[in-house]
Amino acid sequence: MKILVLGCGTSTGVPLIGCRCKVCTSENPKNKRLRPSILVSENNFDILIDTAPDLRTQALKFNIVNIDAVLYTHTHADHIFGIDDLRMFNYLKKQDNKFIPIYASETAVNFIKDKFDYIFKEKTESSKPYLITNIIKESLEIKPGLFITPIPVYHGKNLINGYRINDFAYVTDVSSMPESSLSLLKGIKVLMIDALRFDSHKTHFSIAEAITVAEKINPHRTYFTHMGHNIDYDEIKEICSCKSEKLIPSYDGLSIEL
Ligand SMILES: [Zn+2]
Ligand SMILES: [Zn+2]
Ligand SMILES: [Zn+2]
Repeated sequence: MKILVLGCGTSTGVPLIGCRCKVCTSENPKNKRLRPSILVSENNFDILIDTAPDLRTQALKFNIVNIDAVLYTHTHADHIFGIDDLRMFNYLKKQDNKFIPIYASETAVNFIKDKFDYIFKEKTESSKPYLITNIIKESLEIKPGLFITPIPVYHGKNLINGYRINDFAYVTDVSSMPESSLSLLKGIKVLMIDALRFDSHKTHFSIAEAITVAEKINPHRTYFTHMGHNIDYDEIKEICSCKSEKLIPSYDGLSIEL
């Protein structure tokens, strides 16, 4: 399985528009973070997690030409507003069935159908993505040997989905995790987790909270994502390597094999 980080930035992306801080003006490409999204590929089956507003940029930057399924974590703007760009992946599909299945919680599916109603109308004059919605509540074998398990986590007061895909888990936009969800992550090899900033936040894990949870779950490697402009790549890399070789900050374009 291969994971490609398409964006590991917070909702504003990094740099922030108009910000002159050290990280926003840094020339280190690893301090340039698009909105949060990853591509998980297994035997030429490509799963996109979330359609960030930067989806078009990400697809061009990383030469993504195929998407077989989309998993949505939740419906905040930084995770869904690239949905219309899925159109191009419909066009690129060679087979007759050009529909792309999308998977999300019932709340998220209802929200998407409501806010992007043009996508789900039978007839429209202009072009639109062709998507089929699926509510995901429990583990699903999306193709032989590839299991997707939704991991319910709290993002502030909202219960949203992280996802376990075989031995990998992506848990972004999380501020607390029920014990039952921690149990669903037993035995994973790689975890990618929300680590917004050093200070605590109402709806996201801080770096320290992300580390505490990573220690509980104890995967071989833990990667941080959804990072804001308070986090300088070289600094956080140094902090991580002092704590444990298992902790790794991600950057856009990072490719992980497992
Ligand atoms: Zn977010
Ligand atoms: Zn800044
Ligand atoms: Zn969010």
